[in-house]
Amino acid sequence: MKDMETRIRVRFAPSPTGLLHVGNARTALFNFLFARKMGGTFILRLEDTDVERSTAEAEEAILEDLRWLGLDWDEGPNRPGSHGPYRQSERLEIYQQYAWQLLEKNSAYRCYCTGEELEEKRKRSLARGIPPKYDGRCRYLKPEEEHSLKAAGRPASVRFRVEARSIEFEDLVKGRVSFDGQGIGDFIILRSDGVSPYNFAVVVDDALMEITHVIRGEDHLTNTARQLLLYKALGFPPPKFAHLSMILGSDRTPLSKRHGATAVNHFREEGYLPEALANYLALLGWSSADGQEIFSREALIKRFSLERVSRSSAVFDLEKLKWVNRMHMKSLPRKKALELALPFLQKSKINVERKSERWLSAVLETVWGEMDTLSQLADRLKIFFDEGWGMEPEAERILAREENRRVVYGLQQELRAVEEVTSENYKQILASLGKRVGLSGRSLYMPLRAALTGKTRGPELEKIFILLGKERALKRAESALQRTR
Ligand code: GLU
Repeated sequence: MKDMETRIRVRFAPSPTGLLHVGNARTALFNFLFARKMGGTFILRLEDTDVERSTAEAEEAILEDLRWLGLDWDEGPNRPGSHGPYRQSERLEIYQQYAWQLLEKNSAYRCYCTGEELEEKRKRSLARGIPPKYDGRCRYLKPEEEHSLKAAGRPASVRFRVEARSIEFEDLVKGRVSFDGQGIGDFIILRSDGVSPYNFAVVVDDALMEITHVIRGEDHLTNTARQLLLYKALGFPPPKFAHLSMILGSDRTPLSKRHGATAVNHFREEGYLPEALANYLALLGWSSADGQEIFSREALIKRFSLERVSRSSAVFDLEKLKWVNRMHMKSLPRKKALELALPFLQKSKINVERKSERWLSAVLETVWGEMDTLSQLADRLKIFFDEGWGMEPEAERILAREENRRVVYGLQQELRAVEEVTSENYKQILASLGKRVGLSGRSLYMPLRAALTGKTRGPELEKIFILLGKERALKRAESALQRTR
C-alpha cells in the first residue's frame, strides 16, 4: 500500500484561454491537497492546443493565481520534471505518433469529410431532434475511393473507431458510472492540421505522465467515457477517476458570471486571504468528519481525503466565504495583518508614510475583528487620517444644532487644559466635559463622534481620542464647527 501511495501523481490541466475561476481553482486545490496528503506529485499541464484562444497572458495569470493560492506544483512548464514538456502545444508530435499507431492497428481511420459537410450533417440531425453523431461515412471507404480522395488532395483527419456497447467505470466520487457506447460516434484524434483534440491529447499525456488519479469537474464525465476507450486501444492502464460535482450559484444553476465575479483574482483584489479562499474552496464539495470548517493549509492537507468528497453539488455562498475570511483574518499575527492591510490603505490614497508602525497597528486593531475583507479597511479607517476625513450629512446635521455645538466648544476647552489624551485621563476629560455642558451618555458622545470622525458610527470613542491625539482632535473640532456654522 505504502508503495502505491508514494507513486501518486495527479495533475491540474487548465486551458490558458482566460482567468482562473473558482470552479477550476477548486479542481486545482483538490489535486494539490490529495498529492500533498499522499506524498505524491502535483503536476501542472497547460492545455494550450487551441491556438486561437490560448494566450501567454492567460497562462501567466493562471500561474500567478495558483501561486497566490499557495498551490505550488512539482512539475510544470517552469519546473521541468522527467515527464515534460508540460505544454500540449509542445507535444503535438507525440500525439501524432500515437494517432498513427492506432491507424496502423486499424483502431482508427482517415476521414476526408470537410468541415462544411460535417456541419451540414450536424445541423440536419439537430433539426430532426437527433443528437449529432458522425455517420461513419469514411469508416467504410473502399480503397479506391480513398485513393481518389487522396489524389484529389483532400486533407484527412484521423478518426477513432468506436466499437463499444457500454462503458463502465468506478468513479471515486460518483461510484459506478456507465455510458451507452452506441451514442458515441467515431471521433477525431488528429485533425488535418496535425493537432490533436482534447480527448486524445489528454489520454496520451495522462498515460505518459503516469497520472494515477484524474481529479476534475463532472462536466468531463462524458469525456471520460471516450478517454477510457482510448486507454484500451492504446494499451495504457487507465488512471482512477474522481469527478467533482458542480458548483452552483445561489439560485442552484451552475455558477457563472451571472452570479457575480468568480475569478480568483477578483477575490484577491477584494482582499480575501489566499488561505481563506483555499479553505472555502475546500468546503465546496469536501467536508471534515467532525464538522470543523476553518482550516489552515497544513490542516487541510492533513485532513483531506477523496472519500469525504460529496456526490452532490455545492452552492457557492459569498456570505460564508466572507465569514471564513473573517476567521482567517482574526487569527493573523498583528504584524502580518498590518503588512497585508497597508497596500489596501495605500490603494485608497491613504498616506501611511509618516505614521509609526505602532500607531498604524493600533489603528488597525480598532476594526480588525469586524472586517470581512481587507478592501473594507480603508473606508472604516480613513477617519484616522486627515486626507480621509470628511463629514457625512448626518454628522453635519448633528453639529448644526446648538446644544451639540456647545459640547464641541466644551471639548475644545477641556482639551486645551490637558497635555495629551491618554487612557488614564480620558474618563476624567469626558466626566468634566459632561459636567460643564450638563449632558451625559449618547447626547454627549454623539456630537463628539460627529465632530472628530465626521460620522455617526465607528470605533470606540476612547480609541478615537487616543489615536488622534490632542492636537488633531482640536483641529478637527474646529473644522467641524466651521463647516457647520
Ligand atoms: N483543459 C481541460 C479543462 O480545462 C482539462 C480537463 C481535464 O482535467 O482533463 O477543462
